[in-house]
Amino acid sequence: MTVDLVTALPEVVRGPLESGVLGRALEEDTATVRVHDLRASAEDPQDQIDDYPFGGGGGMVLKPGPLVRCLEALEDKHGVPDDVIYLTPDGERFTQKSANQLSRKEYIVLVTGRYKGIDERVRRRWITREVSIGDYVLSGGELPALVLIDALVRLQPGALGDARSALTDSFQDDLLGAPVYTRPASFRGMDVPEVLRSGDHERIRRWRFDESVRRTRARRPDLLDESEKLDEEAPSSAPDGDKTA
Ligand code: SAM
Repeated sequence: MTVDLVTALPEVVRGPLESGVLGRALEEDTATVRVHDLRASAEDPQDQIDDYPFGGGGGMVLKPGPLVRCLEALEDKHGVPDDVIYLTPDGERFTQKSANQLSRKEYIVLVTGRYKGIDERVRRRWITREVSIGDYVLSGGELPALVLIDALVRLQPGALGDARSALTDSFQDDLLGAPVYTRPASFRGMDVPEVLRSGDHERIRRWRFDESVRRTRARRPDLLDESEKLDEEAPSSAPDGDKTA
């Protein structure tokens, strides 16, 4: 997967793109992320990338010219992207399901806003999808773009040391993940559940599934409601309750 990220503040994204699972995956070419400074698409160095909003009111708006020049230059160089995604609080809510779906795209462009956002005409004509990472407002789209990139890149084949790990994460199968433990087996009077040390893979699988369901019922019953609704809508589909598969 290739991601072109358009931003007015490239320095905000550089560190996270070089660290952890994401940094390693990009270094090993499991995915490619190219960062583009919006200011480089201004007509001249004095050209502002933002301007006052028509109709007055506080805040500035990112001008259409530099942004569209940047998007057109990307298309000339790399072809038509599968999606041009604008990160915005009023977009569709980003979920693990959208991450799974987007992770299968070959080439996407992410557009990040600043100030009051980007000119509406760019949204109408050049943006194909709008995504929000939650019901709150950040000062720029760089952190939301990094959230998307991290969620998508870790799903690329080869990104995680053990690919099964992603399958047992929360929200896959509409369930939260089961509790995890590591050594020592006893820590300050608290023991790791015996079943996890039993070596009995079938018991461990069942225990993890039961814990996932218990935790989901306690913390996010809405997820169970959703999957029950889906089961009712599609009675012929086989339920896949095994998060350890
Ligand atoms: N005026 C906009 C509104 O009311 O929806 C908010 C603009 S916000 C201050 C500046 C930029 O941050 C946005 O253009 C967007 O790119 C990004 N942003 C802020 N919160 C976001 C969120 N929850 N999800 C995705 N992007 C967000």
